[in-house]
Amino acid sequence: AKRSGKNTYRLFDVSMNDDMRQRMRIENALRQALARDEFTLHYQPQVDLHSGEVSGVEALLRWTHPELGAVSPQFFIPVAEESGLILQIGDWVLREACLQLARWRADGVFIQRVAINVSANQFARRGFSERVAQVLRESVLDPASLELELTETVLMNQPRETVTTLRALKTIGVQLAVDDFGTGYSSLSYLRRFPIGRLKIDKSFLVDIERDRDNAAIAQAVMAMAETMGLEVTAEGVERHSQLELLRAHHCSEVQGFLFSRPVAPASIPEVCQAIRIM
Ligand code: C2E
Ligand code: CA
Ligand code: CA
Ligand code: CA
Repeated sequence: AKRSGKNTYRLFDVSMNDDMRQRMRIENALRQALARDEFTLHYQPQVDLHSGEVSGVEALLRWTHPELGAVSPQFFIPVAEESGLILQIGDWVLREACLQLARWRADGVFIQRVAINVSANQFARRGFSERVAQVLRESVLDPASLELELTETVLMNQPRETVTTLRALKTIGVQLAVDDFGTGYSSLSYLRRFPIGRLKIDKSFLVDIERDRDNAAIAQAVMAMAETMGLEVTAEGVERHSQLELLRAHHCSEVQGFLFSRPVAPASIPEVCQAIRIM
């Protein structure tokens, strides 16, 4: 027993080291990624179920390292957050997404809205709302064309400063959405206090929604509540027609997921939007 215990310990020890080394490697590589132009944004359409048109696109960060290849945001975003690098990266995302929306429009492709993911540290940083206003001016976009996706944890972080920043953003005129709704904080009272316009139902609630009655009940309750409160709802992670039918039956207004399109490079967006229109 002792011997295997020791072996187990050793194994654990080694893998811990590997893990930390890997993290350090990623962190160092991330430090250089911006300067080396290794980030890109892919965009995933959000579809208005009433009109059948693309109502907006969500910008999703992609990182291709010369040796590591494509690294998943699920893996590098947490490292970027812990190291503080997310501040510079997030700022790049904000600017790049706004400029891209302006580029599409200049090319005659009218996309109504671009949504970006904002991390807690980025949101809490002094001057965030001023920076958003500045980027909007620079890219000559009307503020309503930009939506910020915030998680419930971002919203519950520093209640006082959060309210101030949210009001400032609302005054500027950008749109605010709660991402991964239902997975974080357990109180809903913030929905009354904050100028939120949209809830994004987390994709975990859509898994097996055709059979899983609990998930179906949660999704339904969120849609009903949103309707009463005058909030928009986007269901994300829609992969199957059967999920779509169920969401439609409950008056869901907007959907996003692989059923319509995966996140794609900006050059593919005109074609993808066209294909969705005729779907
Ligand atoms: P998220 O904001 O919840 O983004 C949705 C994720 O679900 C994306 O993963 C997207 O590719 C994926 N997805 C979309 N449709 C479907 C579907 O039908 N089925 C399934 N199974 N998945 C679907 P991705 O791109 O890997 O991003 C993962 C997370 O990384 C994001 O989750 C977000 O939290 C974070 N992230 C991505 N880009 C950024 C960014 O620019 N800034 C920050 N702070 N976080 C980002
Ligand atoms: Ca999101
Ligand atoms: Ca989400
Ligand atoms: Ca998520």
